[in-house]
Amino acid sequence: MSSAIVVGAGFGGLAAAIRLRAAGVDVTLLEREDRPGGRAGRIETQGFAFDTGPSVLTMPSLFAELFALHGEDITDHVTFTRLDPAYRAVFHDGSTLRIRGSVDAMAAEIADVISPAEAGRFRRFAAHLHELYVTEYDGFIDGNFDSPLDLVRPAQMAKLVRLGAFRRVAPLVASFLTDWRLQRLFTFQSMYAGMSPYQALGVYAVIAYMDAIAGVYAADGGVHGLSVALADLATRAGVDLRLKTPVERVEVRDGRAAGVVTAGGDLLRADAVVLNPDLPVAYRDLLPADAAPRGLSRLRYSPSCVVVHLGLDRRLDGAAHHNIHFADGYKASFDDILAGRLQRDPSWFLSVPTVSDPGLAPPGGEVGFYLLPAPNLQGDPVDWAVQGPRELDLAIDRIEAAGYGAMRSATVTSMVVTPDDWAAQGMAAGTPFAVSHHFRQTGPFRPRNVAPKVRGVVFTGSSTTPGVGVPMVLISGKLAAERVLEQVR
Ligand SMILES: Cc1cc2nc3c(=O)[nH]c(=O)nc-3n(C[C@H](O)[C@H](O)[C@H](O)COP(=O)(O)OP(=O)(O)OC[C@H]3O[C@@H](n4cnc5c(N)ncnc54)[C@H](O)[C@@H]3O)c2cc1C
Repeated sequence: MSSAIVVGAGFGGLAAAIRLRAAGVDVTLLEREDRPGGRAGRIETQGFAFDTGPSVLTMPSLFAELFALHGEDITDHVTFTRLDPAYRAVFHDGSTLRIRGSVDAMAAEIADVISPAEAGRFRRFAAHLHELYVTEYDGFIDGNFDSPLDLVRPAQMAKLVRLGAFRRVAPLVASFLTDWRLQRLFTFQSMYAGMSPYQALGVYAVIAYMDAIAGVYAADGGVHGLSVALADLATRAGVDLRLKTPVERVEVRDGRAAGVVTAGGDLLRADAVVLNPDLPVAYRDLLPADAAPRGLSRLRYSPSCVVVHLGLDRRLDGAAHHNIHFADGYKASFDDILAGRLQRDPSWFLSVPTVSDPGLAPPGGEVGFYLLPAPNLQGDPVDWAVQGPRELDLAIDRIEAAGYGAMRSATVTSMVVTPDDWAAQGMAAGTPFAVSHHFRQTGPFRPRNVAPKVRGVVFTGSSTTPGVGVPMVLISGKLAAERVLEQVR
């Protein structure tokens, strides 16, 4: 039987391990922390359970696939609920719109708040995004690239061009939707890929599809609970999962991976090694200096964020599970962040997971997760030791001013996480959102999931193909497993 070591039990490492095991590979999964999940971590204090990372959960079928590979039904282990509304959006003029849980419900909301004509345009837009998504998925998202030529499938390319995949997101969306609020609601997702909708290619409009049209879900036990469910699945399937086992380096012999050396000094041997730590950091810390491919030091990174966790002793007035607050200067917000500056007139996001799962807080309490897009550490220097506590204060002020009720008296516990903290956790450039998705870092141009100079080393995670976010990272685990199987068989 061939063997593989997977380093890191983030969603990428978990997906790769589960798939390799299903293919009959002997898998050892080594995680430095005392729990799985990586960025989808958990802090538990004073009866509150805080998810440290992803909150907007899309494409649950990708989780279900992993269970099905081992003959299990995910519904025996995890309960997903489609959120309606998926988001509650609040605009600077005080108006609100809800992204509803189905195309029909969304069209009804638009007909009600804007106009029946705009609702009709929304239906055409939703159908268009669906076609774009289906056209892109095979090959562009769910496929390994060995050369840019792999991209050139004439029929697929012609269709992508016709669907506007190579226009910019903002004009593509504006060619369907005329209401400025809807234009914001269906373009802000470009930020997830590290770009402004004024520069992102139309291919990235599919993020809005996955998010606002295909559906946003809540999982019982929060997003971290999903990583625990995957770790349990991996263990049942026979993966040897070892927590609290940091890896110090990959053992390279004659130009190929022979295994890894743990921080405890053990040499563990395997035919292939899958690395889940952020790719630039994996090259820096775990591989020989001469293994790095050309161009690694010139990579561009997505903006970062400040997160404020709030444990509250009362429910927030009027909160949905996901609440997004748009500033007046929508384009200026992107310009600031992408130029490496703090936003002058900030847009921000508030997730309140206790709306769906009250068990994440003590009875009657609430968990608040505030996220402010912020420059990464390649931007203007910010003294985060000073700015962090300021951002905590500002967050509380903003949430209170937005009408959720008195905040200071309700706050039992609070924490702020800054780009310095993301860097300390091993994320290049202090951003949890990875290498950005500019054209030259997308598809076949993204850092490859194989190490060109060390055979048997494969990468999974958000800085390699296909990209950032939980669904993409689960797919990256699949692509990594395919690479391992190519190499060990
Ligand atoms: C605040 C925040 C909000 C986000 N919001 C969303 C969202 O709403 N929706 C969405 O889809 N995505 C979101 N994301 C992005 C998403 O969380 C990531 O893209 C994804 O979880 C990354 O998974 P990964 O497997 O690539 O890496 P990670 O989760 O970082 O996993 C890497 C693992 O490797 C381990 N490791 C590192 N070094 C070593 C070593 N030397 N030895 C052993 N183990 C090691 C780490 O401990 C970690 O467990 C968010 C992220 C953050 C932080």
